[in-house]
Amino acid sequence: MKKMTCRQLGGACDAEFIAESFDEMARLSQQHSMIKMQEKDIPHLEAANAMRALMVDKEKMEAWMTEKKQAFHSQEDI
Ligand SMILES: [Zn+2]
Repeated sequence: MKKMTCRQLGGACDAEFIAESFDEMARLSQQHSMIKMQEKDIPHLEAANAMRALMVDKEKMEAWMTEKKQAFHSQEDI
């Protein structure tokens, strides 16, 4: 299992997620972001906007994903 924070995954706080795979990690982080956005949490709304801007460019989006996957794999196993 690997542990990452919301911030490490492009989010805006230090909430921690523990997951077995990168896909699961991404899902946990997404769920968390959704809840925060529903709470109208400004830092998370801003992070989501930055993310949307990134998604327009397929290459940038892929580079971002690759970077996050690498970050996931470089975390210590817990
Ligand atoms: Zn967060």
